Amino acid sequence: MLGRAPHKPLAVLRQTSGPLRAARLQPWDSQHSRVQRSSSCTRHPLWTGSVSSPGGTQQSPINIRQRDSIYDPQLAPLRVSYDATSCRCIWNTGYFFQVEFDDASEESGISGGPLENHYRLKQFHFHWGAGNEWGSEHTVDDHMYPAELHLVHWNSTKYANYKEASVGENGLAVIGVFLKLGAQHEALQRLVHILPEVRHKDAQVAVGPFDPSCLLPTCRDYWTYKGSLTTPPLAESVTWIIQKTPIEVAPSQLSAFRALLFSARGEKEEVMVNNFRPLQPLMDRRVSSSFRAVAGMRS
Ligand SMILES: [Zn+2]
Repeated sequence: MLGRAPHKPLAVLRQTSGPLRAARLQPWDSQHSRVQRSSSCTRHPLWTGSVSSPGGTQQSPINIRQRDSIYDPQLAPLRVSYDATSCRCIWNTGYFFQVEFDDASEESGISGGPLENHYRLKQFHFHWGAGNEWGSEHTVDDHMYPAELHLVHWNSTKYANYKEASVGENGLAVIGVFLKLGAQHEALQRLVHILPEVRHKDAQVAVGPFDPSCLLPTCRDYWTYKGSLTTPPLAESVTWIIQKTPIEVAPSQLSAFRALLFSARGEKEEVMVNNFRPLQPLMDRRVSSSFRAVAGMRS
């Protein structure tokens, strides 16, 4: 089924997102009136401080309308080459869990596709919901997936380090992969096993060699557009590469995500769920696709 029923409870759980949202009523709000702050929906501290926003003309995430995306025959396949031994640690940032990589060399990274330069792998993380009906940041024809993986890379041709690149033009390239319910994902299970060790904010443990290309779908068709980070500083430095095909994960694997905590040890326990940013307007942008769209083709 394309689209989604108008009365799902998920919308009220979408976070509001600081000054950018406060300054301008988003079309997503006005059309659907689905983002309402409720007394049960407290804002994550990430969004309560001073959030610097760049002006908001190329913000992420967005709803990808397949009918409006433009097939670009010039888009080459993305070249992905990761060095499993550069995987360092997994840690609870207090907003999601993140797996970090050593980015001192060019060994691990991506190029080709919409990218003019080589981008080094820095980290990957996920966003997810409190239930299985929502949780992804991007949506496809208004469909939400229960979770979304982001593999974050920085432009090592143009910039000296991740920090500079993260706020620079064409600084970052993020691969987005939707998660949908299905069979257990064996590669993800290795991380799921470690999650109890990073239940609290700031907890960190080492991960052995891990090649995150095992988290990519077999079909590498993608959409791409220019956007932003979806967490502060919301810099418009990101070339997004959103995989068309989701990967399958078991319900128990998402349950393990939801057993994590936003809170540090000793603080009042707050479960780590709904750690996604609301949809942002497409404005004057186009989404390109590496494949020809077929009506009703969402996986
Ligand atoms: Zn993300």
